[in-house]
Formats: sequence, C-alpha cells, structure tokens
Amino acid sequence: MSPKNLLARLFKKQLVVNVLCFRCANIFAHKLKHKLTCPHCSYSVDTEDYIRIYYYAKNAIYFGHIYKKAYQDQKKKQGKITSKYHIPDVDQAAIWLGMALLSGIIGNIGTDVAKKVFKIIARRVKDKNGSLPENIGTSEPEINILVENLLLYVGQFNGVDKEVRETIIEEMIVHKLNNKRKDNDKLYVKARSEKEALKVINKIAIETIKIHKKYGKEAEQEVNKDLVPPPKDTFSGFWDKIDFNNSE
Ligand SMILES: [Zn+2]
Repeated sequence: MSPKNLLARLFKKQLVVNVLCFRCANIFAHKLKHKLTCPHCSYSVDTEDYIRIYYYAKNAIYFGHIYKKAYQDQKKKQGKITSKYHIPDVDQAAIWLGMALLSGIIGNIGTDVAKKVFKIIARRVKDKNGSLPENIGTSEPEINILVENLLLYVGQFNGVDKEVRETIIEEMIVHKLNNKRKDNDKLYVKARSEKEALKVINKIAIETIKIHKKYGKEAEQEVNKDLVPPPKDTFSGFWDKIDFNNSE
C-alpha cells in the first residue's frame, strides 16, 4: 500500500494523537486528519509533512542514539560486536526532543536555541506524563552527547567506528524486513504445542531467508533513502512563537 493510501486509511479511523507544535512547542491532542492545527498559536501543518519530520527524528533517536550507544558500548567492552540487540520502540516524547535538536543541527536556528527548546519540551512532557522517556537525559553533558550523536546521524554515520556503523545499518535493514514478515510471526503465536511451535519456527526461518532474498536489496535502498537528511528549509519558522523570556 502506498504511504498516501495508508494515511487515508488512518484518517478514516478518527484516531486522536498527541502532536508537538513546530512553532510554539506546545503539546496538544488532535484528531488525525490532513492538517494538524495548534490550539495555542493556530499554526497549521500538513500531516504528511509532520510525519516526514517525525519519521526522520524517530530514526535519528532510535538508531543514531539508542542503538548506537548499545553497540558502541559492546564494542568498547569486548573489542568487537558479537551479539545483536532488540531494543523496544522509542517513546514519542524522545522523538519530539530529537526534533528540537535536529532543528538546530539541520536548520539554521543554531544548537544553543535548539537546546533551549529541548528543555522547554522536556519540561512540558514531564508536566504531562510525570516523567521523561528513559534513554534521554536532560543534564547538560547528556544533551551534548545526544547532539553529538544526532550530528553523526545527520552525517550518515560518517566518523562512527566502521563496525558500529555497519551493525546499525544492518539493524535498520532488519527492521524494514521485520515489517515484511509480521504475518509469519502471527503463525508462531498461533502454534500451541512445542512440536507445532518448532515446525512454525522452521517455517519462519525458511520464510525469513526467502524474504531477505526477495526484499533485501529493496530494504537496503529504503534505508539509504531514510538516511538522507531533510533539507534545511524543512525547519524554517520552527519555534518562532516561543517567548523565550517568558517560557514558563
Ligand atoms: Zn502552537
């Protein structure tokens, strides 16, 4: 299904989602439709554009920061990477915080302003949810590490240890392929006895090889596309409705 059709189907479901305003950095609930309008400053964004930035920021945080740290730590400890991780999906608030810093790294507001926005969003998330996502620290050194990792992600891992970089990219490809084999996993859940489960595992293994053969190249190309950062002007106008002197 094309992304456009997928979106159209989502809109029909009348889902209510939490949205971060790209102008005033307030968080608000909104019914998912073609445009998302902020009740605080009336800024309106095309949902497609919102999702595009969101998706880039999600990958940047998930693969560029969380996975990178995991594999980098393993490499440091053992000298090489021998085991793979399966890290739970990243929290929405972590993605918003990533967006704030990316707007400074890719856009032209500069990292210092981006860090201020980061802190404002962190405070608002904490007020709303009671806590911040794990994996994201708000101390100055922790923010600096995050900025550094996002910079490396924007640079498509240029400067990252070769083995770490290759492992993360492989991880990104595996995540793409996993989406294509979800139906097989459903089979596994259905299996009741151990014997039955083993049969299904076998089947999944064979299917996985087939899927890798069939979609491996395609997934790799998709990942290469995902790694290309959005253009600078994607972030123009960001946060221009924040009153930095009076922001809470
Ligand atoms: Zn707003």
